Amino acid sequence: MKKIIIPSIVCVLFASCSGGNKETNKTETVVDKNSTFDNYKNNFIEDLWKIYPAWASSQGFHKYDSVLVVPDDNQRKKELAFVKANLDSLKKYDIKCLSYNNKTDYYMIENQLNSIEWSISELKSYEWDPSEYNVSGVFAEMLNGNYDSLDVRLRNFNLRMAAIPAFYEAAKKNIKNPTVEHTQLAVDQNMGGTSVFEKDFHEALNKVHFGEHEKQMMEANAKEAVNAIKSYAGWLKKLDNKTPRSFRLGKELYTKKFEFDIQSGYTVDEIYEKALAHKKELHEKMFELADKLWSKYIDNPALPREKSPPEKPKDSLQLIRMVIDEISAKHVQPDSFQTAIEKQLPVLIDFIKKKDLIYIDPSKPLVVRREPDYMAGVAGASISAPGPYDKNGNTYYNVGSLSGWDKNKAESYLREYNHYILQILNIHEAIPGHYTQLVYSNQSPSLIKSIFGNSTMIEGWAVYTERMMLENGYDDSPEMWLMYYKWNLRSTCNTILDYSVHTKNRSKEEAMNLLINEAFQQQAEAEGKWKRVSVTQVQLCCYFTGYTEIYDFREELKKQMGDKFNLKLFHEQFLSYGSAPVKYIKDLMLKEMEQCPALKKN
Ligand code: ZN
Ligand code: ZN
Repeated sequence: MKKIIIPSIVCVLFASCSGGNKETNKTETVVDKNSTFDNYKNNFIEDLWKIYPAWASSQGFHKYDSVLVVPDDNQRKKELAFVKANLDSLKKYDIKCLSYNNKTDYYMIENQLNSIEWSISELKSYEWDPSEYNVSGVFAEMLNGNYDSLDVRLRNFNLRMAAIPAFYEAAKKNIKNPTVEHTQLAVDQNMGGTSVFEKDFHEALNKVHFGEHEKQMMEANAKEAVNAIKSYAGWLKKLDNKTPRSFRLGKELYTKKFEFDIQSGYTVDEIYEKALAHKKELHEKMFELADKLWSKYIDNPALPREKSPPEKPKDSLQLIRMVIDEISAKHVQPDSFQTAIEKQLPVLIDFIKKKDLIYIDPSKPLVVRREPDYMAGVAGASISAPGPYDKNGNTYYNVGSLSGWDKNKAESYLREYNHYILQILNIHEAIPGHYTQLVYSNQSPSLIKSIFGNSTMIEGWAVYTERMMLENGYDDSPEMWLMYYKWNLRSTCNTILDYSVHTKNRSKEEAMNLLINEAFQQQAEAEGKWKRVSVTQVQLCCYFTGYTEIYDFREELKKQMGDKFNLKLFHEQFLSYGSAPVKYIKDLMLKEMEQCPALKKN
């Protein structure tokens, strides 16, 4: 990895930390402040894991694997005290005197603390979202993981499991007028999770050589755990809930949640307006392309047609849909799905090198593997990155297999991930999307960013690279652009959907119209999206928001710098700050350029 930011960091260390004792060497003071802040961060994380042991386990920190926190008033008091103490500690640090890495860490810790405080005192989802109480995931991971011997993992499993009855008793006390949607979700997920204790745990226990007495005790605990889970689900089903809360969050809470979760430089209203305008723009561009492609794909004398020549539909959206349907027929066969993905990776790397778009570290190749069994069923492709405590772990590109799928399901899936979209998927998930971003963020290691990593920046980067690759000529065919626009329309409409459902009371019917008629989605996909928007809030906005912020920032810089702008340098510099919110990266990059004008030249 080229250390492109080293000179600029030194530059800023000297320049930005004014104040302090004139007698002391400024560099020393700064270094000292940073090392105290580093110590503070370590203590902060240690304390964080004590309060949130399940979160710790999920990040690969297993010291508190035997603890299950009972979510009662007492726990919430502890959390609030933790927030207050740490907000006080943060005040002791002069942010001007911290390095870039520490500055962004500072902001991210502060945001996390404020977010915890707000969730407990304002959002109060622990009262209305019964699906927050579901232990099976944490326990399943203890059985699947191989971070420790099975003996150790099972004994911790057992200790943690002993608190499950108390856990669900506290849950019942917390719940007040829950939403119908989250109640149903809680019932489904909790009932679905009992197999971890009834089946998986039992099977694991057969593999170890514990004494009979110990095994019996553990089996008894498992039985009680299952009873507690089933009794919770039964209690929810019978709950006398005459005035259920709406699953729609409402403007005020939604705006706040957007601020904490997304951490954008734009307000949520600005993002909504931008998404509406972007949708309109995409429809116009798509119509232009589809209209051009009409004669090639539909009104084609070479293709046998019942009605020839077919008339062009008057509705432009319908015309776009018809052309998209034809283009989607170009796709790989089910048995070559995996190899098609594998073959594309070197092609992407070559293109990036040839066009000088970003440095790709050849010493960190991506390991492509067939999707492990426990992930099966999701298909497609995804990145598995090692957790923050597993630095030497491989990063995998999991590619799903379609073997065993019924013919219609496979065909519909392959049409969705057709020849064009499959390439965009590879750009997004792997190179130069998520995987490349990950390699860069590992160059500026920060536990804080690994734990609180900003998903808007992470997803935004992946979505940004899709367009960036096409702009640089990766595939300039009208077919590719049309399919790309359809793909981009998905994240754009996710934002419109989420905002309007939660703050503008958009009905299901209107939502389905948006997804099916305006975003060209299949009925099943749209139904799934509706379900998702009724049990999550804000999360669907992160793709479009991050993409818009990065794209707008790049265009702004281009304008400012004219022919001095260098795309490769922009990408490398942008990623060098790790998975921090785009607004902070932007801020730091602009300051850095001011202080080190040399950076502006290439
Ligand atoms: Zn087909
Ligand atoms: Zn992604």
